[in-house]
Amino acid sequence: MPELPEVETARRGLEPVLVDRRLDRVQVRQPMLRWPVPAGFAPALTGRRVTALGRRGKYLLIHLNDGQAVIGHLGMSGSLAVRPGCNRPPPDRHDHVIFDTDAGVRVTFHDPRRFGALLLTTARDLAGHPLLAHLGPEPLDPGFDGPVLAARLAGTRRTLKAALLDQRVVAGLGNIYVSESLFRAGLSPRRLASDLGGTRAARLTEAIRAVLTEALESGGSTLRDHRQPNGERGYFQHTFAVYDRAGQPCPGCDCDVAITGGVQRLVQGGRSTFFCPRRQR
Ligand SMILES: [Zn+2]
Repeated sequence: MPELPEVETARRGLEPVLVDRRLDRVQVRQPMLRWPVPAGFAPALTGRRVTALGRRGKYLLIHLNDGQAVIGHLGMSGSLAVRPGCNRPPPDRHDHVIFDTDAGVRVTFHDPRRFGALLLTTARDLAGHPLLAHLGPEPLDPGFDGPVLAARLAGTRRTLKAALLDQRVVAGLGNIYVSESLFRAGLSPRRLASDLGGTRAARLTEAIRAVLTEALESGGSTLRDHRQPNGERGYFQHTFAVYDRAGQPCPGCDCDVAITGGVQRLVQGGRSTFFCPRRQR
């Protein structure tokens, strides 16, 4: 499932082909995504120029020159592919929305499971939009530090894992990057979130920032569906320390895995958590 690094990878890949380009043709081939693509979506975008591509948490934001804005979400399996005019394959049945620019470039929203979304709003209404209004801080913003995170975790009775998955606490993290960040910080996913304290909160924000930055440099993680806009897979999955590595040694563990069992998988709130009980307290 795409998280912040996968969405930001998409944003960075689309920026050079969409910004300052006019959308000459927009086709909605399948409107039934997680929420229906609005009926007037294609006519509203056609002829408009893209002025900027933004991101908030796991949402991609497309700003248009008439003040409209598109909120995009990749859901479970969505990706955005860029294809030049020549050698373009015909759309397949999971290519739900197609954007053609005045430079002859095609951007295709592909989503086999259809949990993604493309919604229309205005730049003015973005901050107050129900999907965005309650999102927590951006973890790569310089202002995201120990005190900010500690304040958002204070008073909750949840575990650290559950709290970090909550987009109102911090925006953009999902199962993969929460597991990896907690490992990096040496903190147990079972720890009570409100109990973190200043030093550990600072360590955790640094770990989150480092993991996300490294993932971005790798083009995100491709488990099944994620593709960068140029069609390449991300490759951060090859450097996972704990995620999906149950029974294997974590990096730096000097224990005998035959005795300790290595990385452990546990289910919290219906989601798998992977951690090393020896290195995460
Ligand atoms: Zn270990």
